[in-house]
Amino acid sequence: MERSDMSFSVSTQSDGGSRGCEWGNGNGISSLLAQKTNILKPSFWRMVREILKFKNDALTYLEYHEHNTDVDCNETLGQFIQSHGYSLFFQEAYLIPVCAGLWPSSSQGVLSLSAFFVLSFFHNHDLLQLFRYPQLPTVKALLQSVVDKVKGELESMGCRIKTSCRVKSVSSFDGAGHRVLENDGSEETYDSVILGVHAPNALKVLGAEATHYELKILGACQYVHRDIYLHCDQNLMPRNSSAWSAWNFLGTTSRGFSVTYWLNHIQKIESARPFLVTLDAPCVPDHVLLKWSTSLPVPSVALAKAYLQLDKIQGKRGIWFCGAYQVMASMKMD
Ligand SMILES: Cc1cc2nc3c(=O)[nH]c(=O)nc-3n(C[C@H](O)[C@H](O)[C@H](O)COP(=O)(O)OP(=O)(O)OC[C@H]3O[C@@H](n4cnc5c(N)ncnc54)[C@H](O)[C@@H]3O)c2cc1C
Repeated sequence: MERSDMSFSVSTQSDGGSRGCEWGNGNGISSLLAQKTNILKPSFWRMVREILKFKNDALTYLEYHEHNTDVDCNETLGQFIQSHGYSLFFQEAYLIPVCAGLWPSSSQGVLSLSAFFVLSFFHNHDLLQLFRYPQLPTVKALLQSVVDKVKGELESMGCRIKTSCRVKSVSSFDGAGHRVLENDGSEETYDSVILGVHAPNALKVLGAEATHYELKILGACQYVHRDIYLHCDQNLMPRNSSAWSAWNFLGTTSRGFSVTYWLNHIQKIESARPFLVTLDAPCVPDHVLLKWSTSLPVPSVALAKAYLQLDKIQGKRGIWFCGAYQVMASMKMD
């Protein structure tokens, strides 16, 4: 493992396409003031003060809920922002771009996210720091080396690993185990099953056998589809190069934000050519090297509530469930 910094930048655009406010935290004052006109903007300095206040308010809020687990976490981010009196500029040049870049939401959607989830995520990812941005552990060698290691461990325990087989259905088998039917028509029986798929896919393979609670809890998890590009198009990065950071949020409050990961910085790739990964690009970037897509779970108050009932389905009939949706629902993400 090696440490990799997770600094970030924000570039807001007006609907006409011109850049609004641009700043970053990757390189101290020079990235904070990458856009020189910000020096003269009282609203910008108020935002900076509010980012510091936000950290204190968030920690107080999280601590309160940690010590009062019986208190509901129903508050939305919008309610939290309103009750603590944050400025519109703070929302538009910091909170909304960062949240909309992290989770698939419109500006309004961001404000309806669970406050507890967002604040926990910011805290766990050290996003509450203005300058001492987080140093996250990253895999030094190729990810394949991690996969090989896990595979080796499992095989040494006697596990047989089958890959590239799509499961069509999982159904109970004479009350003693489960029948796993694959797309190619082959089937096998197992004592227990762990479904490591997205919540809607888990419900799909369980079909009509899904219980009331499985439908209720897994059904509360919504996903959005995202296209992802690996490319070299600098137009998706801050205009001022001193603002370039590990994560770069760029967009408009009406049309949404993209997040671009600067791989040269994150993975210490020594190349004059920028290698960038963008989620939610406003258009197809130039110089695309690879495109793929995925679905990501949407953090919502409904999901957080459903998670509290997870023990009603976990292992109850020899079936366990796992996936990022549970991490998201439990408000922690590592
Ligand atoms: C660019 C990018 C950066 C990210 N950065 C971070 C980060 O810094 N930190 C973080 O925590 N998360 C990050 N994420 C999110 C994280 O990668 C995902 O949330 C996570 O991989 C989801 O895990 P999962 O197990 O729920 O689903 P997946 O990883 O999608 O796994 C589900 C698997 O189930 C398989 N499957 C589906 N249906 C069937 C079926 N019927 N039969 C057999 N197999 C099936 C799929 O093929 C897939 O392999 C990032 C995502 C992206 C795209």
